[in-house]
Amino acid sequence: MSLRERAARQRELDVLAATVAQCRLCGIGATRTNSVFGEGDPCAALMVVGEGPGETEDRLGRPFVGRAGELLDRMLLAIGLPREDVFICNTVKCRPTLDTGTRLANRAPTPDEMRNCRPYLDRQIEAIRPRIILALGAPAAKSFMGERFSITKQRGRWFDGPSGIPVIATFHPAYILRQTGGAMGEVKRLVWADLKAVQARLAETPAASDAAPEQASLFE
Ligand code: URA
Repeated sequence: MSLRERAARQRELDVLAATVAQCRLCGIGATRTNSVFGEGDPCAALMVVGEGPGETEDRLGRPFVGRAGELLDRMLLAIGLPREDVFICNTVKCRPTLDTGTRLANRAPTPDEMRNCRPYLDRQIEAIRPRIILALGAPAAKSFMGERFSITKQRGRWFDGPSGIPVIATFHPAYILRQTGGAMGEVKRLVWADLKAVQARLAETPAASDAAPEQASLFE
């Protein structure tokens, strides 16, 4: 990728990020602290799409920087991808919250919120043109594969995404963290298989063949 092309993509993303920062299409545009546009390599081969920002992400304006984010970083490193080499974003760019009366809790984005935010995600995909999209968790997976997608039955399989980009889904790192004992081991085993599928597909193209060898131990 030429420096000129990289700079052009970064400029396009910066302009889009500024638009997102002004967006008030949903109620969560007013309750957020910061919009969370996404971050990473504008020429990334892999784009990771999560559900939506949580409390830490909202505070810092960056995706996947809480506990789930730390696990995501280890998952990516385990297949030889430092976080800064991928592009990480979410289906919605503002933190969906639920006012419990005493605090603002995280909640899943509504279909309306995901619909309002979709053009931003599509424009990110168009600008970056990743070779692969990894969807984390059911909401992100359904946003690409449709409402009938089952994360338990269909994770780890390849689907055609926007512009024919291959999409694969795996369990969300926050879901992994909620498991205990043997269940956590089993979920990690499945996620590891999905990550290996991503690594293998990236290795099919010469540009990604310089990825570091796998280090499963980093993901333990
Ligand atoms: N969970 C998500 O889906 N996205 C984030 O950015 C953080 C946690």
